[in-house]
Amino acid sequence: MVDWSTLDDACGSAEHVPGLLDRFEADPSGVWSELMDHLCPQLDTAFTASFAALPRLSEMAAACSTDDQGWVLLAAGAIAACSPSLSEADSPLTVFATSIAVLRDLADRRLSQSAEPEEYVNLLQALLSFEGVEVWDRCLDGLHTGEYEVACPYCGVNVLLVIGQDDGFCTSDEDALNEAQKTPLRPAQTQDLEGLSRRLFTRATADGQASVARGVRYVFGRADCPDCRTDFSVPERVTAGWIP
Ligand SMILES: [Zn+2]
Repeated sequence: MVDWSTLDDACGSAEHVPGLLDRFEADPSGVWSELMDHLCPQLDTAFTASFAALPRLSEMAAACSTDDQGWVLLAAGAIAACSPSLSEADSPLTVFATSIAVLRDLADRRLSQSAEPEEYVNLLQALLSFEGVEVWDRCLDGLHTGEYEVACPYCGVNVLLVIGQDDGFCTSDEDALNEAQKTPLRPAQTQDLEGLSRRLFTRATADGQASVARGVRYVFGRADCPDCRTDFSVPERVTAGWIP
């Protein structure tokens, strides 16, 4: 049994967390924000009680309805994303490996059935979190929003990378769709994708998520800074904010 009174969440003692989890189980979409406020505020900080909740969340995800399951997987994924890496002693991903494996398999299965690009990308990030893939499990949102903001590695200007329906471009003007200076955003060639980028591209293609697969080529491509015109690697800049 978990002694919740010895654990913490964002508000202090985690004594109330089992009750909060009960309410989340009864109404995942309605209680999701409150649960995250306690266990994973801003989706970037987790506490001892957050990791201790993973076994319960995996049971919930395995048992709940299809509609509810997405919320449970996203909650667990956000917590897993905050876990110290698998290489650390006593990483929650190792301590709760059995529950994490269940969550991973459920996310994997659900991906193939997911129609909406936003849900698909969120589940993809959750899947990577459960597998202990670092950094990229937080960097894929732009695959459905079509936008990334990065800093030029040479002149430091903020560059907006836009992955549009027909092409991709970069601009340093917030007002990207007007008369701002646009420079090329060049997608990686499919045959040049390797490692994680190849896996993401292949998976999204197999799942019928053509726009996500196309986005992967842009995110792993190259860009020209609209200000200083220097060519830079997009994935290096996208992940720069997350790499210590
Ligand atoms: Zn520049």
